[in-house]
Amino acid sequence: MFTKILIANRGEIACRVIKTARRMGIRTVAVYSEADADARHVRLADEAVLLGPAAARESYLAAGKIIAAARETGAQAIHPGYGFLSENEDFAEACAASGLVFIGPPASAIRAMGSKSAAKSLMEKAGVPLTPGYHGDNQEPAFLKEQADAIGYPVLIKASAGGGGKGMRLVERGEDFAAALASCQREAASSFGDEKVLVEKYITRPRHIEIQVFGDTQGNCVYLFERDCSVQRRHQKVLEEAPAPGMTPERRRQMGEAAVAAAQAVGYVGAGTVEFIANQDGSFYFMEMNTRLQVEHPVTEMITGQDLVEWQLRVASGEPLPLSQDQLQIRGHALEARVYAEDAAKGFLPSTGRLVSQVPPAESLNVRVDTGVDEGDEITPHYDPMIAKLIVWDEHRDAALARLRRALADYRVAGVTTNIDFLSRLVACPAFAGADLDTGLIERQRDFLFPAPQPVPRDVLLVAAVGEILWEQHAARLAAKASGDPWSPWHARDGWRMNLSAARTLSFRDGDSLIEVQVRYGRDAWQLAVHGETTVARGKNLDGDRFAVELDNRRLIASLVAVEDKRHIFLNGATHVLLRDDPLHLVEAGGAQGGGLSAPMPGKIVALLAQPGQTVEKGAPLLILEAMKMEHTITAPASGTVRAFCFAAGEQVADGAALLEFESAK
Ligand code: ADP
Repeated sequence: MFTKILIANRGEIACRVIKTARRMGIRTVAVYSEADADARHVRLADEAVLLGPAAARESYLAAGKIIAAARETGAQAIHPGYGFLSENEDFAEACAASGLVFIGPPASAIRAMGSKSAAKSLMEKAGVPLTPGYHGDNQEPAFLKEQADAIGYPVLIKASAGGGGKGMRLVERGEDFAAALASCQREAASSFGDEKVLVEKYITRPRHIEIQVFGDTQGNCVYLFERDCSVQRRHQKVLEEAPAPGMTPERRRQMGEAAVAAAQAVGYVGAGTVEFIANQDGSFYFMEMNTRLQVEHPVTEMITGQDLVEWQLRVASGEPLPLSQDQLQIRGHALEARVYAEDAAKGFLPSTGRLVSQVPPAESLNVRVDTGVDEGDEITPHYDPMIAKLIVWDEHRDAALARLRRALADYRVAGVTTNIDFLSRLVACPAFAGADLDTGLIERQRDFLFPAPQPVPRDVLLVAAVGEILWEQHAARLAAKASGDPWSPWHARDGWRMNLSAARTLSFRDGDSLIEVQVRYGRDAWQLAVHGETTVARGKNLDGDRFAVELDNRRLIASLVAVEDKRHIFLNGATHVLLRDDPLHLVEAGGAQGGGLSAPMPGKIVALLAQPGQTVEKGAPLLILEAMKMEHTITAPASGTVRAFCFAAGEQVADGAALLEFESAK
């Protein structure tokens, strides 16, 4: 077994690998970019080596620098995690050439599966069922269009070198094919350095079911059952579970054996995943093989009781697989939710900023939190905005679901917008709870998942007022303690004012509306009035940012995190944001939008889609911004005229920068 390994990755997966290595007594070397100097994985590792600037090309993708770091620190092997260099055959080869073990499959297996097109050809020969489509070399647009017409719409265009849900375009009608192809090729070239695409039949209402496989250097190969990853947004997984609901033992064996056949066809060693797309009737087609550990591997660990990183380390050091096929068993049900810094209501736009507060649910045998960030850390635009993976386990799906609901309700983040409330609704939605799964679930449940914004409930306003008062009292006590005269009445925050009654008004803004809470201070309680209705309230600080509130005869537990004038109120598993309208600290909220459209986040202009002077309809695409490795289309907010663009294609723009001048038609 190795005594020291280097982890060529960052975030939660680097932390995850360090955890197992530490348990096995293996020392770890982290690598990091300038943007990650204080990152959690750097803090956890035994040693860390700076690679270079934030851009992945100069840090986490800089193969030469990583290999040099491994040699300098005396690491014997490199774990690539997922993403970055994990499926880069040149890197795997370069490791071997430098006398380092690449903790992953042989370069030849990565190469064979690296191209979706080539992998489909290979699987065809191995007798694995395939989605109907064209995966050949002819890339002429006219020819590809003919193929699409022959397959029949809808079709999916996929970047052959694609991954992570990127580089895919759904085409519903022949007349949209050419534009979708151009856009897909552009993204394929910029994200994967290869324009090649394939076209396949778009399966309606499919499920994504994947099989975890593991091979060793002695030629053994097993499957560790399936994961259902059907719940996706923009073809990216959001919720994963194991086992797949409704799976029969017979189908499980068929899919498992097909996956092992796929792995053996390329001489597979290590952890791999064979992805299938399944029809509602259970028939399944090979989609691709991912030649690495997957983001969602923890659900497999929870139901098999195995540590897949330990398996990887054992296999890479030449040991045989720890268990044979008939020793592997499924126990219970596991679910994983990916917690992202993103705004679900705004098309899942990534959110960046400092995690002012991050309080995950308590970990136990049933609840696991894999995270790469701690409170105070920054979510930067440089990398994937994942905050954590929340994994739960129980004997049955319903019990696991209840645990997930509870864990999400307990998860509190402030400072960046997160998808936690969205995940809570998703888990509660009858289709998901009833295991009526397919990849279109989120789209189909839009009304349930994206309710129109509601005014903040009265309870939340009352809780916000109590939180504010408790916070002031707490601050006053601290100030008194720090002063020379702790008993001076001038430190009291009980509403007492010279020559005034013990009453005041707390003002909050909920979107555009101003809400006033009238507070009357009593001996041991407060009278709070909102819109003329009065409630008697009491409150007490608990640990951290939590406090207990009594509203008339009801008792609630809430948390409040203040970030400048923002108040994040966590109550009953939902997060609400109010702005404190404090006349003493008047802050002008919300800048004027003017005639310009601004960048929702830092990024690069990919293409301008209109001409200056052109009149456009509301919703017309105006320009494409690439931010956080995704293309965002900026559309016309109303019918009107494009006056001018402020940037040319290829230019970088800062967060909030005006992108163009636009004049709405009157
Ligand atoms: P990536 O490598 O980017 O993850 P995949 O080929 O694994 O791409 O596909 C990602 C997702 O896209 C799948 O999980 C599925 O939801 C959807 N998808 C892929 N192929 C098809 C298809 N032929 N029909 C319908 N949906 C598909």
